[in-house]
Amino acid sequence: PSDAVILFGTAADSSKWESKTGKPFNWSAVDNNLTVVPFAGDLRTKQSFGDCQLHIEWRTPAEVKGDGQGRGNSGVFLMSLYELQVLDSYKNLTYSNGQAGSIYKQHMPLVNACRPPGEWQSYDIYFTVPQFYADSMLRSDARITVAQNGVLIQNNVELWGAMQFIGVPKYEKHDAKAPLLLQDHHNNVSFRNIWIREL
Ligand code: MG
Repeated sequence: PSDAVILFGTAADSSKWESKTGKPFNWSAVDNNLTVVPFAGDLRTKQSFGDCQLHIEWRTPAEVKGDGQGRGNSGVFLMSLYELQVLDSYKNLTYSNGQAGSIYKQHMPLVNACRPPGEWQSYDIYFTVPQFYADSMLRSDARITVAQNGVLIQNNVELWGAMQFIGVPKYEKHDAKAPLLLQDHHNNVSFRNIWIREL
């Protein structure tokens, strides 16, 4: 769309990205593929975003290694805090709210819409930021709607807080905008055609 920011397009242009620690770009950018370099650490945008529509395509390795959470794991973290899980969930059992398309450890997807490993898949994400009062109390939850490969998998769900691996998620007041972050979970997951519209 004409009002979109292209975060990663058809050329291997990594200029919109940096490492999570603010160091230079350290993943692989070849042609139109942005790929995790295992143990390089998470990657984030230099620009910060709030309410947004995000389109992102992803592909887990064609050669299947590992199982459960160890198979094609990555994640799309809105505001660097709220994880939409990326996982090879094609005939790969794991806990329900940890599969592809889950809001990790919060909401399972409405359906498993995964394509086989090695095929490109898309997420279309509509995200509303959480609101906080001046005294840091939560005013309204973050909300997210997601379609995977055109199939609705998250329907305007309320997030419980920032992604929490173990324990109860909670909100802590943060800025109205924050970088988009992609997770290095030590698997060679690729991304392409990433664009975002600020709403
Ligand atoms: Mg993940």
